[in-house]
Amino acid sequence: MAGTLFKGCAAVVTDPSLPHGVMRDVDLLTDGPAIHAIGPDLSATLLPAGTDVIDARGWFLYPGLVNTHHHFFQTFVRNRADLDWTKLSVIEWLDLIYPIFSRLTEDCFYHSSLTAMAELIKHGCTTAFDHQYNFPRAAGKRIVDRQFQAAERLGMRFHAGRGGNTLPKSEGSTIPDAMLETTDEFIADCARLIDSYHDAAPFSMRQVVVSPCQPVNCYRETFEQSVALARDKGVFLHTHVGEGESPFIAARHGMRTVDYLEEIGFVGPDTFYAHCWELTDAELRQLAASGTGVSHCPEPVYLVGAEVTDIPAMAAHGVRLGLGCDGSASNDNSNLMHCIHSAYMLQCLVAARRSHPVPEPRDFLAYATTGGADLLGRRDIGRLAPGLAADLFAIDTRRMDYVGTRHDPASLLAKVGVGMPTDLTMINGRIVWAKGEFPGLDEAEMAAEAEAALATLDL
Ligand SMILES: [Zn+2]
Repeated sequence: MAGTLFKGCAAVVTDPSLPHGVMRDVDLLTDGPAIHAIGPDLSATLLPAGTDVIDARGWFLYPGLVNTHHHFFQTFVRNRADLDWTKLSVIEWLDLIYPIFSRLTEDCFYHSSLTAMAELIKHGCTTAFDHQYNFPRAAGKRIVDRQFQAAERLGMRFHAGRGGNTLPKSEGSTIPDAMLETTDEFIADCARLIDSYHDAAPFSMRQVVVSPCQPVNCYRETFEQSVALARDKGVFLHTHVGEGESPFIAARHGMRTVDYLEEIGFVGPDTFYAHCWELTDAELRQLAASGTGVSHCPEPVYLVGAEVTDIPAMAAHGVRLGLGCDGSASNDNSNLMHCIHSAYMLQCLVAARRSHPVPEPRDFLAYATTGGADLLGRRDIGRLAPGLAADLFAIDTRRMDYVGTRHDPASLLAKVGVGMPTDLTMINGRIVWAKGEFPGLDEAEMAAEAEAALATLDL
């Protein structure tokens, strides 16, 4: 693959976690899957034959976003008035939505994943983690395999969270029997997926994360065996925590979820939880001490009217933070760029009630880049530097939308918000979205295929 020269970038945000991680008026040169150089006037040096030169004047380049929590399959239940959180109790909502989820077919999982990933790419996301915990018996066991196919079609870097639920409703879970698996089935399929797809090498496009859905919907043995498998295979762990702390955990296990998971060993630098809305200050310190990460999903907090996650306290205690869209059952878009803005605005709303200051706007971009890469255990993505993966996106600031905003490129996404698709998204040195198109793919055809798959269901 020939390299690409982005010539004359107005700014390159190299590392949003650093106060001065921005370079002005530079070129960026890629070579194969990696960034080769960033600096002034690289075109004066001899470029390798076949280098594609892009006029990047007025462009801000950013590290590709890393989404750390999602449920792609929920993309097929977006924008439905009958599933309005503000008019339903959680139990009423679950009783409506789970029968829908349990009717999804293997094709639905493929096309909903393609749909979600396409939207993510259009808005600058280059690495997607998906928490796929829905395995209706009728849909078979090839769902994650089909997700890897969808990712490959779009050129997306994909970390598959193989989820699952084992505890029946009759024993206190919220999961219908048609979506249950045994612990053995779940662990065996995780092992199969790791052996078939997990690639730990630099620039890897495919990884697997062992991700039982949540403690309230699984037997303890499911979590214990998840820990054993993940540590044996050297892969990461993920689950939902503190998203409506269930009294069942205390009743069943005599402790809160964070202590329960710590006792099992489902903690550590190779482990990240989604949400953690309602954790106590002591529990946040526990996460920081064990190195366990948190994927903060701001938009469900608005939609569900939940406790506003105390990001300032998490940051002050040193909890490792990433950002996630979450599934469309509690966030109707798959736009992580939008979440950077909404996460920042949400914290500003309650700043006066906090003991710690709201992190800087650029920190919210850092959660979605360097933070997400860190949660997924990736050292080759999340920043722009020679030798790292060429995962990036571009915003052409020569528009009325951006007049007056050029002072601080690293804060643009959180403070101003970017309401349109990127001008270009690149993954592993390959342009996967540019000039309003997915090169080599027909977007209208993909959308029609996805609508046709959706139409096969009587939802
Ligand atoms: Zn979730």
